[in-house]
Amino acid sequence: MKEQGPVSEMNIGVADILPRVGDRKRLMGSAQVVVGDGYDVAFLPGDGVSWDLRITRITGGIEISGRISGSVTLECSRCLEDFDQPVDLRVREHALWFGSEDIEPGDDFAQEYLVLDGTLDLLPVLRDAICLSFPSRRVCSEQCRGICSVCGVNLNLEQCGCTREQVDERLKPLLELKKRMEKGNT
Ligand SMILES: [Zn+2]
Ligand SMILES: [Zn+2]
Repeated sequence: MKEQGPVSEMNIGVADILPRVGDRKRLMGSAQVVVGDGYDVAFLPGDGVSWDLRITRITGGIEISGRISGSVTLECSRCLEDFDQPVDLRVREHALWFGSEDIEPGDDFAQEYLVLDGTLDLLPVLRDAICLSFPSRRVCSEQCRGICSVCGVNLNLEQCGCTREQVDERLKPLLELKKRMEKGNT
């Protein structure tokens, strides 16, 4: 997924468009947001999620605020089927302004958003905001019955008659893997 590259307008040349403190600009865009496990997120061309942001030059950085809305496709952790998770949230973040000459080897900016050499990378701001908005348990519905741990059928769609009590819970990851591979082949 990563090879397909991000959508085009993620790197914003803020040094040019916001030359002075107090300058601001509206920034709109959209992408199809594809979510894998955890924070593995790809932004592909599309319009599943839209953002309408205002970026403001402040002393020492950029303020990013506005709204992100739409929907993201997630995989249900019980039945492994895809489902639409609505996204509707407000963001207000700051990115610190740095030149590459300011950064010493070993500096840890992993927790920070940065404007590096005049360019703001919007992707981590959007990615974090969207991921943090997800419920901690990703399920298609509270009533989801999951997959049979013996034969792997989706129990929301059919009954299989397996005796599931006897199945070792430790086998479950293998059955989920089998189901994923079958999904990948279709
Ligand atoms: Zn489900
Ligand atoms: Zn079964």
